Amino acid sequence: MTSLLAARGLVKTYGSVRALDGVDVDVHAGDVIAVVGPSGSGKTTLLHVLSGIRTADLGDVFLDGAPIGVLSETRRSKLRRTSFGFVFQSGMLVAELSALENAALPSLLAGADRSSALSAASSWLDRLGLSGLGARRPGSLSGGQAQRVAIARALAHQPRVIFADEPTGALDSRTGQDMMTALLESAAASRAAVVVVTHDQAIAARADRVVEMRDGRIGVFA
Ligand code: ADP
Ligand code: MG
Repeated sequence: MTSLLAARGLVKTYGSVRALDGVDVDVHAGDVIAVVGPSGSGKTTLLHVLSGIRTADLGDVFLDGAPIGVLSETRRSKLRRTSFGFVFQSGMLVAELSALENAALPSLLAGADRSSALSAASSWLDRLGLSGLGARRPGSLSGGQAQRVAIARALAHQPRVIFADEPTGALDSRTGQDMMTALLESAAASRAAVVVVTHDQAIAARADRVVEMRDGRIGVFA
């Protein structure tokens, strides 16, 4: 079976640092993969290369068997907006936009019409327990609420893979677990795969697979 996303022989060098030193990863539809490892081991670089934010020096990433590293920046950017969703450590919501507009932003950027983008975003906010908060600016939301808006934003355009880089890093452990539950349930409901970087063993334990990184290389543990 062709993987949804397959990385083969990824090498990414910054000066003398091999951030990725020969990495292979397979992501199948619906997979939840946790990426763990010490700071500086290459986790964020792996997420960026898997999602086409950066390209590898050697090797490539294949989406449905087609290489993405050879695409122009414009094509890769379009791919990110349509096929992938992103959740970062602390929301990265646009401060000037409402929660609803933030959640709808990827769909709007992908060219959806405004009313259908807003209504899809609104139903995700409802499902994530944020009914009635759509008009708020991020500054008047709690950290946990802001991360739920970020989940809605990552999912509203029906991506095939959600990439999350330490999404619970700025939350207390209880709020982090609740946020992770919301992310995994939402991803499962829309059949999106999840690749999540985390330091939290309790969160890694909820993945189907754990990929451990050390010095730009990986080991895989069931
Ligand atoms: P992690 O997310 O596991 O902490 P990173 O992928 O951020 O690790 O970094 C892996 C290595 O690559 C580190 O040594 C880091 O300093 C280096 N690195 C990452 N991004 C850059 C960059 N843009 N410029 C220079 N070095 C970088
Ligand atoms: Mg990182």
